[in-house]
Amino acid sequence: MTQQIERRTTSVYKRYIEHSEQSSYIEIPFQLPPDVEEIHVSYQVDSHGGDTAKGVIDLGIRDAERVRGWSGGARQEFNIGLNTATPGYLPGRLATGEWAILHNAYKVPAEGCLVTIEIEFIYKAWRWLKGDLHTHSVHSDGSYTLEENAAIMESLGCDFLAMTDHNTSSQNLAYPRGTSVLMIPGTEFTTNYGHSNFLGVTSPMDDFRVSGISDVHEKFRVARERGAKIVLNHTHCDHCPWEWDFDVDYDGVEIWNGPWREHNRRALSWWQEQLVAGRRLVAVGGSDVHRPDSNVKHAMPCVWVWTDAKTVEGVLNGIKEGRVVITNSPEGPFANLQCGDYGIGDEVPYEQSGEVVVQLDDVMAGDLICLYSERGLEEEIAVDSEGEVILSFDAKHRSFLRAEVWRQFGQADGMSMAVVTNPIYFASNGGTVKISD
Ligand SMILES: [Zn+2]
Ligand SMILES: [Zn+2]
Repeated sequence: MTQQIERRTTSVYKRYIEHSEQSSYIEIPFQLPPDVEEIHVSYQVDSHGGDTAKGVIDLGIRDAERVRGWSGGARQEFNIGLNTATPGYLPGRLATGEWAILHNAYKVPAEGCLVTIEIEFIYKAWRWLKGDLHTHSVHSDGSYTLEENAAIMESLGCDFLAMTDHNTSSQNLAYPRGTSVLMIPGTEFTTNYGHSNFLGVTSPMDDFRVSGISDVHEKFRVARERGAKIVLNHTHCDHCPWEWDFDVDYDGVEIWNGPWREHNRRALSWWQEQLVAGRRLVAVGGSDVHRPDSNVKHAMPCVWVWTDAKTVEGVLNGIKEGRVVITNSPEGPFANLQCGDYGIGDEVPYEQSGEVVVQLDDVMAGDLICLYSERGLEEEIAVDSEGEVILSFDAKHRSFLRAEVWRQFGQADGMSMAVVTNPIYFASNGGTVKISD
């Protein structure tokens, strides 16, 4: 898989606490280095007094300015991240400088006790994070609680989740804690003539009711002003397509909604037309899962975003930049495009455009790899082995290149989409203007 290993460093501190220190607060100072995304702390208390009473040493942490969390004697470990933290701890900025583990020496045996603290820093690192940008919960017409949605996503090994309930934001005020899944605030702006997702903002609108396109423009304007990224959902759906003008201000289009179906194929064709016309429109996907269902399941499809931080901002920036791959499930298969130092979503300068390396992971014999540019289908390669396939394609004089992988799933009628990447773009000759020295 293209997923990179996170960078981690671990330090161990030992502090012997004397009986005379009972009922006092103790600090174990440490330096927080730059570019940390998450801190993980665990501790252990060892008493050596045989069967005498064990030490009871409480746990907490402070940054340079304030106490950032306290769990007393209730937890052996905790996490603090930029957007997430163990209950009892405050997520937020991880400013460099002197921090300290806090202890309350509540009960110390006569012989004293030894506290061993392990502090792990997880650094920001460029990697693919995966998740689902379109799900529902009991906060609208879904049957899953927020906790159930988060637990399912965690069990699938996913990194992020947006619960986009219809025309409400109450779910965004009740995110579950104590999950490794990053919660991206979301609302599905649901009108009688089309649905769109507002992502990244707790409350993107005050009133969902619209009576014409000018109201839709206004809702989009306000959502955007509040910081939302906007995705037009299931635009070519048989039941609720986007019937408003497409000339609205949005960031991306959901070309893959739930299981691969004919309406997704229509959305894919429409997207290709936009790309051919020179528009750099980002394609995303979403399961639109509402309840247990044999076909519609969490993270099917799964959205992969290339980002340096597991934060709402990090994921949404990656989407904005078009660094997105959509796969049938969190298990892949996966496809990546690279031209020199440039990847999916990037624009390769004219002088450096040329050979694109197409890397495919977890493909199967019988899969079909298709490469598309503004000229249409450029290459179609039938896979005859299992595992990794690396291809190269000369993309000179193209404006973009993107990849699809098609697969025969089980007893399905014909081939279905297994992967679709966003394009890597190429600057045209003369497209870059030299600023005079
Ligand atoms: Zn919808
Ligand atoms: Zn929906």
